[in-house]
Amino acid sequence: MRTLVLNAGYEPLAIVSFKRALVLVMNDKATVIERVEEDPVWGTHGVYDRPAVIILARYVRVPSSRRVPVTRRGVLRRDNHRCGYCGKAASTIDHVLPRSRGGADSWENLVACCLRCNNVKSNRTPQEMRWQLRFTPRPPHGTAWTAGAPSAATRGGSPTWPSRRSPCCRGRTSRSRRLGRAPS
Ligand SMILES: [Zn+2]
Repeated sequence: MRTLVLNAGYEPLAIVSFKRALVLVMNDKATVIERVEEDPVWGTHGVYDRPAVIILARYVRVPSSRRVPVTRRGVLRRDNHRCGYCGKAASTIDHVLPRSRGGADSWENLVACCLRCNNVKSNRTPQEMRWQLRFTPRPPHGTAWTAGAPSAATRGGSPTWPSRRSPCCRGRTSRSRRLGRAPS
């Protein structure tokens, strides 16, 4: 069982073993925001919730050598100037979780967006719009970025963003799957 670690700004940071996650929680470095139900951890000093997702108490700056700085141009380039929602030519960028609601200026929270989708979406989330992102936004790195291809659209889904499921069953299945819980 692995645990997703979110930075204090809610962007995904790493996936660690649940033991490592528990150590962070016990040292007050992180808080559990989702636990795996009915699967507690039995330790020598007691029983603990098995963390599925934790959030760090303090914001961790990721070394710049590991991350490409976020720019509007960079986001457009990563997404091949195609709207993350409808696939048409994009000239703007959109905060997936709107900035007014705490969304970060991060690679994970920015997508290329056409003017129309940007205006229609305004300060709502894709879930509220019943829109599907065409891909999971990720920081560009390595050969995929320097070579300019393939785009983020060809990469796999993340544990937090149910990108490839139909809107009708999105909420429940993704949640149960993420927590490793059998659907009831
Ligand atoms: Zn669009």
